[in-house]
Amino acid sequence: MDIKELEKLLELRGEPKFRLEQIKKAIFQDGVFSFAEISTISKGLREALDEEIKILSFVPKKVLQAQDGQSIKALLELTDGNLIETVLISPKPGFWSACISCQVGCAMGCRFCATGKIGFIRNLTAEEITDQILFWRQYIKKNLKFKIKNLKLTDIVFMGMGEPFQNWPEVRKSLKDLIDPKLFGFGSRNISVSTSGIGEGIENFGKEFPQINLAISLHFASDKKRSNFMPVNKKYNLENLKKALQKYFENSNRKVFIEYIMLDGINDSREDALELANFLKSVGKLQLLHVNLIRYNTTSENLKPSSGNATQKFRNYLLQNNINVTIRKSLGSEIQGACGQLAGK
Ligand code: SF4
Repeated sequence: MDIKELEKLLELRGEPKFRLEQIKKAIFQDGVFSFAEISTISKGLREALDEEIKILSFVPKKVLQAQDGQSIKALLELTDGNLIETVLISPKPGFWSACISCQVGCAMGCRFCATGKIGFIRNLTAEEITDQILFWRQYIKKNLKFKIKNLKLTDIVFMGMGEPFQNWPEVRKSLKDLIDPKLFGFGSRNISVSTSGIGEGIENFGKEFPQINLAISLHFASDKKRSNFMPVNKKYNLENLKKALQKYFENSNRKVFIEYIMLDGINDSREDALELANFLKSVGKLQLLHVNLIRYNTTSENLKPSSGNATQKFRNYLLQNNINVTIRKSLGSEIQGACGQLAGK
């Protein structure tokens, strides 16, 4: 929703200032689908706005719901025809989280990621980023509210397509809108931003948004393996990442989540676990680092998910080394839940 455009239209029509606030509340908090639904404004204004301005900057092309009802994925078509994805996930009862995209495609080229294979196409605007939340609010209202009482979208993760710190001006603006009590009104602590490890991005983020959660897509704790699977590591290696995290902790006392996709025979051995433990110990603030072990949703013919047994063993090695660790439940494999799997088709 382009708020500036809305403001301009209302000004041109000579509407009083409070009108904007009424409309913002209806769109951002009540999740209306069209201006026609806003009963607090005149019929003439409703019709004029519906004609002149769109609430969403894309149209949904496909929505897939997993059979267990715990994840829903949407493929959205932007006005220029590009496609992005967003996922609604319920990892535990009563807890709904939206995973959103910040770019069309991604330049980072991680070998295990379907979005990485698409390559970079363009940055999303702040509006296109936050519209994904509006979309889910509308979807929940229309399709899920009657099935699940009190269903509320509580959390947001920037873990869809794209590297947030490569589109920082727009991601930054979108974060401000998401925590603005007059717009979306999310708590900072309910939002997480995930990066592949852009050093200066991590530092700036900690200074500006110390209460928003940070997640690092680490996946490998040796420079050799990480550079092989994640080209970002050639510029921002583990030493650089360590320093960036240490700087981050000078500004924030929030827990940092270390994302680790378990890949069979590649990063799931005892040695890999020890390397990971040693890297985290070298960062310091071990109590603020939490590893999430994630089952790999296959997107590449050459890579397979680690077995449940290997994942358990890996977890135990980390625990023996005093590392906080959780095995994350895999959601959405039958709806091609991994980022980029739908848009890349
Ligand atoms: S994992 Fe993230 S950073 Fe890497 S290519 Fe995919 S979207 Fe980009």
